[in-house]
Amino acid sequence: MVDSLLECSNLNIKFGQNHVIKNLNMHLLAGEILSILGPSGCGKTTLLRIIAGLENPCHGNIYLKNHEIFGPNINLQPSNRNIGMIFQDYALFPHLTVEKNILFGISNLEKRMQDENLERVQQLTRLEGLKDRYPHELSGGQQQRVAIARTLATNPTILLMDEPFSNLDASLRLSVKIEMEQILKSSNTATIFVTHDREEAFSISDRVAIMVDGAIQQVGPPDQIYFWPNSKESALMSGSCDFIKGSVSGKSVNTSIGPLPMRIPETFSDGDQVDVAIRQTDLSMEPTPTGKNIVVRKDFRGDETIFWVKTSHEEIIQCKHKIHTTLFPGLKVNLSPVQYTKFNVFKVPNC
Ligand code: ATP
Repeated sequence: MVDSLLECSNLNIKFGQNHVIKNLNMHLLAGEILSILGPSGCGKTTLLRIIAGLENPCHGNIYLKNHEIFGPNINLQPSNRNIGMIFQDYALFPHLTVEKNILFGISNLEKRMQDENLERVQQLTRLEGLKDRYPHELSGGQQQRVAIARTLATNPTILLMDEPFSNLDASLRLSVKIEMEQILKSSNTATIFVTHDREEAFSISDRVAIMVDGAIQQVGPPDQIYFWPNSKESALMSGSCDFIKGSVSGKSVNTSIGPLPMRIPETFSDGDQVDVAIRQTDLSMEPTPTGKNIVVRKDFRGDETIFWVKTSHEEIIQCKHKIHTTLFPGLKVNLSPVQYTKFNVFKVPNC
């Protein structure tokens, strides 16, 4: 069994009557990037603040390198946890140069160690040429590199990042994201990274944790979460998804668009009433005058077009297509599963 670097066990926090974190369990492995993906208000930032020691849970334990740092009888001060945190706005000191910003957190070290750390992180984050600049003289991506350098200079055991790309425009996000991933991987820094952006979470993470209403709903590699969601919430958070009603029959589920093969039929019985998750790329559309489904909306997006199709049961399914010229609202279509596609289904509660 692999030892965790960080272990959170049964964490709970309430703000007045608002029970924000509920019996939350999670762990972080050495060197990994773990993203926490969840809707606004589900408690992502609060969880980071708890781990950093900036909020106190009413219940639970936190272990860092197998040492308890929070529990009924211990609450290590934030400054003694050796956890680095990078906020959305990077919180750089505007009156200090890049070099002085980086040195700020390690001013307690002897001069030789300060110089060594400074050189190491400047190389890692490629900031050597910018050391005399002030934050307002840097681009968003450069500011982010300074924030990372300043935190890595302290040799944190783990790094926490809260929506680090939210202030960058779309054209910068991709390159900064790739750069950050390279810096974290080459410094082998275990990182928890909070986002509501699924693509961001998927592209840079070793594992993704889906957080819903103060608890971790599912955690695993991005492809596992996408193809094997364990709940409707995980299905929705891990990709665009529509749900239609179905009734289990053998290895398939009968729906308004016909029988669809199920991904894990073993866990269901004939007649079970279920919700079937349909991704935008799961179905192909064929226009035909006898089609039972009708295109009701077309969203042209350049590389692809999303068609909204209404089934005979008035359910709406979104289908992604490259072709956009011959398909249009009002057209009758047949929908059929793309070859080899299996569908995730979820039991309807109380059935
Ligand atoms: P977002 O993605 O919008 O940043 P989030 O998932 O990070 O959201 P949090 O910021 O952790 O969510 O907030 C979770 C809930 O806790 C919200 O309802 C918020 O209003 C509440 N909350 C957070 N901090 C406090 C506080 N210090 N006092 C009272 N309520 C708080």
